[in-house]
Amino acid sequence: MERGETVEGFIEPIPAFVERDGERITVGHICGKCRRLYVSTQLHWDSRAVAVDCCFRQCACGALTGGTSWTACEECRERLAREREEERDRARREKAERVLFREYDGEWLFWEEGFYADLDTLLDHCALEELPPPGDAWACRPIKLRFDVEDMLEHALSDHHDEAYDQISEAEKDALQRQLDAWCDATGVVSYEPDYKRLVILEEVCGDATSAG
Ligand SMILES: [Zn+2]
Ligand SMILES: [Zn+2]
Repeated sequence: MERGETVEGFIEPIPAFVERDGERITVGHICGKCRRLYVSTQLHWDSRAVAVDCCFRQCACGALTGGTSWTACEECRERLAREREEERDRARREKAERVLFREYDGEWLFWEEGFYADLDTLLDHCALEELPPPGDAWACRPIKLRFDVEDMLEHALSDHHDEAYDQISEAEKDALQRQLDAWCDATGVVSYEPDYKRLVILEEVCGDATSAG
């Protein structure tokens, strides 16, 4: 007996068949609940089992998964995702280099999925949310606005003759790259991303707060 068949309210899939020369040939199964048709293929696909899974696929916990493409129910999927996230966080923290705040060369901090322009902003946030000051936070690294000269030339020269690219010297490319970099820097556009290789230790600047996490 299939596992899905033990689910309360289970409805047996309906065989779908064609008649050929007076003989009935089963070509698939229709889900007993939503009536979706699952056609058998030459590959000996068990269309009945798939039709059972359609609306009666069970998670290891016994609940319905909510569709044939899910192997676990929504609750279990969320729990598993959370556990994976926690495990990833643990592994990152274990491997990360510990940097004392006074030795941190940046200003931005990443803590609990949020970016903070500096330590004061982070502490203000914690005070507002009535949270204890964190013992550490992730370092951040800047992402500068950049254009790649090679990419730009490739695009710009796509309609030109074959030797056009070779007419531009390395020195000319370097010069253009420098001008573009300077232009980008002048715009002041910069974003930040968490640097999971460096954990900034805040304990000494946050009083006797204990390590978060
Ligand atoms: Zn169904
Ligand atoms: Zn489950």
